[in-house]
Amino acid sequence: MIRFEHVTKRYPDGTTAVDDLSFEVAEGELVTLVGPSGCGKTTTMKMVNRLIQPTSGRILLDGEDISAADPVALRRRIGYVIQQVGLFPHKTVLDNTATVPHLLGRPRKEARRRAAELLELVGLDPAVQGDRYPDQLSGGQRQRVGVARALAADPPVLLMDEPFGAVDPVVREHLQNEFLRLQSTLRKTVLFVTHDIEEAVRLGDRIAVYGAGRIEQFDTPATVLGAPATEYTAGFVGADRGLKRLSVTPVERGDLEQPPVVHLDEPAARAAERLTADGAPWAVVLDADDSPYGWVPAAALAGTGGSTVRDHARPMDARLPLGAPLRQGLSAMLQHDAGWIAVLDGGRFAGVLTPARLHAALRRSTAADAANVPRGNVTLDTVPGA
Ligand code: ADP
Ligand code: MG
Repeated sequence: MIRFEHVTKRYPDGTTAVDDLSFEVAEGELVTLVGPSGCGKTTTMKMVNRLIQPTSGRILLDGEDISAADPVALRRRIGYVIQQVGLFPHKTVLDNTATVPHLLGRPRKEARRRAAELLELVGLDPAVQGDRYPDQLSGGQRQRVGVARALAADPPVLLMDEPFGAVDPVVREHLQNEFLRLQSTLRKTVLFVTHDIEEAVRLGDRIAVYGAGRIEQFDTPATVLGAPATEYTAGFVGADRGLKRLSVTPVERGDLEQPPVVHLDEPAARAAERLTADGAPWAVVLDADDSPYGWVPAAALAGTGGSTVRDHARPMDARLPLGAPLRQGLSAMLQHDAGWIAVLDGGRFAGVLTPARLHAALRRSTAADAANVPRGNVTLDTVPGA
């Protein structure tokens, strides 16, 4: 969708901001460009919508060289969100958002209706915030308007230059989550600039780690964290990259243990028999919908006559959906002081995650990414360098 071919930008004063950059962003992909201040991120971005002309090399959008495109037509296909937002101070939020559709020839009424939809999409209430002026909004709300306005012409491509950089960490996390939710339905092709590695790994399908004017590594967050390609990248992602990695590695079915399972309404004696035959010290207890209720020790079921499992089961609240980041699993284990937590697949019990399995999942995925082989084919014995 966006393709850089040997792109270099040298400013008139001799500064080489971007040096022989080649990469590709697929349609619907969100790529984060991350690196310290001055490494060329904004320059990269502005060459895509032709606010800056490359010194050499070319940039293709949908296979077309953008240097041949009409800049105005080009920018209609590219939404642009910046930190300073750039809202018109004398226009209401609704009018700010409606500006582009109106300029594109939509009747004012229709443009305003569309603007109201967009404000709702980014988590604002058009009836409440729509009639305010930008300086009557919080920083987080202003950024939301910036995103709404960039989406107004429904461009296939979004360029976002540190859009959430000026808001406090709590609001920022909120905006990131909202943006991820939005992106999961809109599937725009996004270039997202940040100097914050946490933000980069959180949002990016892939991330480009910038050194001075060059990309040091361009890969999935899990790979960049698990197998930094250079010392520079290792330093940039930080010594706690293992912890960060917990946030970007999802719990998969193969990561789970399968302890014995009993049902709440089952006769206790029958459940006890099964557990004794398996030599199992405890079992997970499910309700009639196969959703986890808790657990029961085998000893509590032994010699309990006519009762059901329900009379002996102990509730356990720690649970996690399949696909959630391992970090959420670890956090739940710590919070509930539990040796395992139940993992759900659409509400139904899928297995349990234990600390050992969590550790194995983390190691296995690192090794698989590093060796670029499918995860299923890797065992701990084959971990390179382990
Ligand atoms: P980033 O967005 O990663 O902070 P920039 O792309 O803004 O970096 O800048 C990259 C380098 O180019 C920096 O050294 C910066 O000082 C320089 N630079 C940016 N704009 C200009 C300009 N108009 N003229 C000269 N140098 C510039
Ligand atoms: Mg910048």
